[in-house]
Amino acid sequence: MSARLIDGKVVAAALRADLTKDVAAFVAAHGRPPGLATVLVGDDPASAVYVGSKQRQCEEIGMRSFAVNLPADTSELDLFRKLEDLNADPEVNGIIVQLPLPDHLDGVKMTGLVDVGKDVDGLTPMSAGLLALGRPGLRPCTPSGVMLLLESAGVDLTGAEAVVIGRSNLFGKPMAQLLLAANATVTVCHSRTHELPAVCARADVLIAAVGRAQMVAADWVKPGATVIDVGINRLESGLVGDVDFDSVSEVAGAITPVPGGVGPMTIACLLRNTVLAARAAAEGTPLA
Ligand code: NAP
Repeated sequence: MSARLIDGKVVAAALRADLTKDVAAFVAAHGRPPGLATVLVGDDPASAVYVGSKQRQCEEIGMRSFAVNLPADTSELDLFRKLEDLNADPEVNGIIVQLPLPDHLDGVKMTGLVDVGKDVDGLTPMSAGLLALGRPGLRPCTPSGVMLLLESAGVDLTGAEAVVIGRSNLFGKPMAQLLLAANATVTVCHSRTHELPAVCARADVLIAAVGRAQMVAADWVKPGATVIDVGINRLESGLVGDVDFDSVSEVAGAITPVPGGVGPMTIACLLRNTVLAARAAAEGTPLA
């Protein structure tokens, strides 16, 4: 392997260490820690694991976690009322609605009820609009994590060709907006893109978020490019990303592994958003 490894575990641990200090300073100033509410509807085991991990990491850095566990048959009105209560609670600074919700509840509609100042997932239409307009706001966690990884690797985005494979609301679109705001020249690819390998081969920074195991091959990558692999794919042999790590790491200048690259950054950025939201509510500091 000739590429430099961008180690998300190390970058996430450094961020959590900084946040631990920020939380202590917030407690000293305001007499209470920032609070994160996790709303889990139903008993999907994978969702319970994700939520448990968010709560644990929240408490590890000294923040308070509010677990709101609702039965699978919770009505839209009851969930609406619960979110209104959390929006109004001054001890709750961040709210996440764990997706997917049970089939009778519309995930986009329900997450859209979270107050924009507490939208620590950064996924409500209001937060997406603020990002698109270049206004301060809470940014989605996984793309924010990628920006921090690029910064940690010393990648200069100004004028760089950045190619994002994937255009989801969760990742691809906000990723493109963040790169654009950092003055990259951004191309967003998707399942209908013509000549995908050739488009990717132009990239100084190539970011893959597709959900197809090892799709990005070595001849898609410009020598020396920075390659960020967002994909998570479960094979019998274990977890792999969307990038064929073994061959691409011989061509790229820097690359993230899977696991241990982008993944650890997502929850760390959720914690960071909660601290930012708490400070903004208490001190009027900027949200981004
Ligand atoms: P998604 O909503 O399924 O979007 C996938 C995107 O890939 C779509 O835009 C789709 O194009 C595009 N695509 C599909 N097949 C393609 C192909 N053959 N060539 C080019 N583009 C293709 O997925 P997502 O939520 O963005 O997630 C993407 C991956 O990232 C998944 O593996 C997910 O598990 C992972 N992920 C990881 C984290 C983390 O914390 N590490 C967070 C979020 C997501 P169309 O729009 O044309 O359908």
